[in-house]
Amino acid sequence: MNGPVVEPGIPRVQDLGGLFLLDTEHMGYTGTVGVYLLPGAAGTFALIESGPGSTLGTVLAGVQEAGFVPEKLTGVLLTHIHLDHAGAAGTLARRYGAEVYVHENGAGHLVDPSRLLESAGRIYGDRMGELWGEMEGLPQHLLRPVRDGDTLQILGHRIGVLHTPGHASHHVSYSLGKTRLFTGDAAGIRLPGAATVRPALPPPELDLDAWSRSVQALRQAGPEELLLTHFGREGDVDAHFRELERQHRIWSETILDGMNAGEDDEALAARVTKLSREALEAEGASEATTARHSVTSSDTMTVMGVKRYWQKLHPERLGS
Ligand SMILES: [Zn+2]
Repeated sequence: MNGPVVEPGIPRVQDLGGLFLLDTEHMGYTGTVGVYLLPGAAGTFALIESGPGSTLGTVLAGVQEAGFVPEKLTGVLLTHIHLDHAGAAGTLARRYGAEVYVHENGAGHLVDPSRLLESAGRIYGDRMGELWGEMEGLPQHLLRPVRDGDTLQILGHRIGVLHTPGHASHHVSYSLGKTRLFTGDAAGIRLPGAATVRPALPPPELDLDAWSRSVQALRQAGPEELLLTHFGREGDVDAHFRELERQHRIWSETILDGMNAGEDDEALAARVTKLSREALEAEGASEATTARHSVTSSDTMTVMGVKRYWQKLHPERLGS
C-alpha cells in the first residue's frame, strides 16, 4: 500500500456557509472521511457524523479551528453505524453529554457495539486499532432513535430524517432546511480532485434495489446540494445521482459476470480495482487522488457485499 497522502488544497476546516466541513484526515489521507459541524446559538454546535475513534483528536482540533470549544457539543447526528461514520460517537457522548441520533434499527449496536466490533474484526483483523481506534458504547440515556419522516429541532435548525437503506438497512439521510442534504454513504463517494463517483457497496446488508428507491426519495426531497461524508459538497445533484446509479450498475454487473464465469474472490476484486483505475485514468486524475480513492472503500469488501446481494436477493441471475 502507498503511504498516506496529504494533498495541498484540501483544508482541514472548510466554511460552507452556515456550516463547516472538518477533515478527519483518516489514516493520514486528506479529503476522504468528513464530519460536518452545524452551529447553534452562543457557541453551541452539533456534528453530523463523528468520524472513527482513531481520528477523534483531529476532529476536536478542527472544532477548535472552526472557532468552537468541544464542551459546547450538544448532539451528534449519525447517518449509520459503520465505524468511519459513528466510531467516536459514544466517546463524544460520554465526554460532553451530547445526544446521539441514529435510526432506531441501528441504535442497539451503538449502546453495545460488541457485535459490530466482532464482525468488523473478522474483516480487518489486527488492523482494527490502527484503522478505527476505540469504539465506546453510547450511554442509553443519550440515545435519540429516529425514523423516516421525523423532523428534529436541533439548535434552532429544522432537520428532516429520510430513511435511505441500500448501503446499510438502517441508513438515514438528513435534510437541513429545503436545500441541503447530508447523505452519508447514500449518494456514494466523490472525492475532491475527481469527477468519478465511487460506489460504496459493503456487506452484509447491501441492497441495490432498496438503494434505487432511496435515490428516488433523495431526489424528491429536491436538494440543491449534497453533503457527502466522503467527501464534501456536491452541487450538481441530478448529474451526481445519474452517475451513482450508472456506476452501481457497472460495478454490480461486472462482478456478476465474473461470478458466472466461476472466478474466485481475488479475480473479482481485481475486476473492481481495474474498473476504478480506468475511470480515474480516463478523467486524468492525479496519482494522489487515485491513492485516496482506493482507501475509501475496499475492493475485497465490495466483492463480499455485491456477491451476497446477488446470491440472496437475485439468485435467478446466477449461472446465466
Ligand atoms: Zn462510509
